[in-house]
Amino acid sequence: MIPAKFDYLAPTSVEDALAALSEHGDDAKIIAGGQSLLPVLRMRLNAPEMIIDLGKIDSLRGIRDDGDAIVIGAMTTHHDVLHDPLVNEHAALIAKAAEHLADAQIRHRGTFGGALAHADPAGDLGAPTLALGAEFVIAGSGGTRSVTAEDYFVDLFETAIGEDEILVEVRVPKHTGWGAHYEKFVRVVHQWPIVAVAAAVKSDGSTVSEAKIGLTNMGNTPVRARATEAALAGAELSEDGVRAACDRAAEGTNPPSDLNGDADYRRHLATVLTRRAVLKAAQA
Ligand SMILES: Cc1cc2nc3c(=O)[nH]c(=O)nc-3n(C[C@H](O)[C@H](O)[C@H](O)COP(=O)(O)OP(=O)(O)OC[C@H]3O[C@@H](n4cnc5c(N)ncnc54)[C@H](O)[C@@H]3O)c2cc1C
Repeated sequence: MIPAKFDYLAPTSVEDALAALSEHGDDAKIIAGGQSLLPVLRMRLNAPEMIIDLGKIDSLRGIRDDGDAIVIGAMTTHHDVLHDPLVNEHAALIAKAAEHLADAQIRHRGTFGGALAHADPAGDLGAPTLALGAEFVIAGSGGTRSVTAEDYFVDLFETAIGEDEILVEVRVPKHTGWGAHYEKFVRVVHQWPIVAVAAAVKSDGSTVSEAKIGLTNMGNTPVRARATEAALAGAELSEDGVRAACDRAAEGTNPPSDLNGDADYRRHLATVLTRRAVLKAAQA
């Protein structure tokens, strides 16, 4: 279907984009890569009168080193995140997840910030950003504010970004030297996961000292596998050594039931995929 008629603005600064958002209020919608928004418009699930395109705001694009964190601009494409040396050295878990996100065409158009603003519970970037303790920098008319990943993901397709705000960048604390793996379970290639597990592991090769684990599609928002993280600290790094810890991966989760699998199946998947992710992360 063809989208309903809309007007279009392409500001060149965040300030101008915020001014346009505040002028048009509920009638306006931001577009980044358009990979999620355009299907919504074409299906006429939303019909904004004004589309504000962030594509000409250069300051929103790119990845920089900021001491103890790397900073990823909201308009950086999945392709650029995936191939960035800083991301691969200091936050490899993000690159591992981006590698499995959709196909090459979508990774060239879709953006890091767009995916995280869309907040699809099956989206691949929520779990790794949550696991690594990322902070989300959000700009509004009163300036910028920083929101922890724990507070950023509010509910199904809902984040801490207000109606008149823009996600400008995401700060990811450096996890240099940590092993990382994203284990994604799909029915069809290049699709959203039924369940996926993002695992970052610090070890000396025989014992886990610390593990950070995020689960995708195990609730309305990405969730940490806290019980498993706690049980893995000090665990022997072997199939049997991590099994008991990973069997607790679904504790505290509330997975959906749908045509791809019911909640119990997803809980089972979470335990199996977490074990695989932890062992592969430790070998990475
Ligand atoms: C066929 C297909 C397969 C896909 N497979 C996967 C997959 O396997 N895994 C996965 O994770 N994703 C998948 N996606 C989605 C893809 O990751 C998109 O890139 C992403 O969901 C949206 O990014 P975007 O830049 O295109 O955002 P857009 O579609 O432009 O915007 C999405 C939403 O976020 C808002 N928004 C965008 N940027 C900002 C911002 N900076 N501040 C505030 N609000 C903002 C928009 O208003 C809109 O509501 C798939 C998409 C398609 C079409």
